[in-house]
Amino acid sequence: MQKLQPIAVKKVKVRCMDFRENGQLDREADSDPDTIIVRTAGGNIDNIVPTLKRIVEEAKKNGERVEFDVKLHTDCGAGKYSYSVMKEGAHVEQIISDRLISRYREWTVDKKEDMWSDKNAAHHTLMLKRLFAEDIAKEVVKVHDVGVDHVESFNVPVEKREVRLIISKTKSGVSYEEINAKLGFGAYAYYLHADSIKEILPDILLAHTELNIVDIRFLSFNDKEAAEMEDWMVELRKERLAKAAVITPEKAHLFIRSERIPAE
Ligand SMILES: [Zn+2]
Repeated sequence: MQKLQPIAVKKVKVRCMDFRENGQLDREADSDPDTIIVRTAGGNIDNIVPTLKRIVEEAKKNGERVEFDVKLHTDCGAGKYSYSVMKEGAHVEQIISDRLISRYREWTVDKKEDMWSDKNAAHHTLMLKRLFAEDIAKEVVKVHDVGVDHVESFNVPVEKREVRLIISKTKSGVSYEEINAKLGFGAYAYYLHADSIKEILPDILLAHTELNIVDIRFLSFNDKEAAEMEDWMVELRKERLAKAAVITPEKAHLFIRSERIPAE
């Protein structure tokens, strides 16, 4: 009898941009360097569905199955922010309301669900629902809810100095600590990854308006990405949204190469 070949699995980790997740992701990557990492504010996948679809399509072409691994963390700024808007009526910038909060309103009203009894639970429930609701090749996609990272136990110093937001394409094989060291950025770097800046614009604005991050860097790993990052910077500069107008994006050192990232 012919032996069945095991189906290759492409793993995708969905995580928050929070700097306290960097070290944990590095430790996990040591055992699984091929995993693609996607990071947004709170790990909210609503805006990055195009990126996820692209990953699934590529995997399908390679005959791979895709497994999403979705995890939140404690003390999440994005989770608290959503909660303050939904439960406490806090003010929200229009673009953030339209693209980060509206989905919560839809679910809460349409499905008559009270997702807001617990801050993390709401965010988590939404992410998972969105993944399942999205018709991205259901037969090849599995979603694992792998719980919550207790960032307090990671022993990352919480004294925040020189907080930065670093934006790049989705990556596998990155070492955040290595990148931070090479850029001289210290531990306080938030990371956002997606295929296009449009998908993460609300996340950038959230980081800027709620976390007061003004130092925003665009990181590239090769010539092709360097050109793309130029375009992303132009896109961000076009934004004239209240406080966002003061964002002055900068290019991080180009051609940073992690030892784990193959040159293209
Ligand atoms: Zn978070």
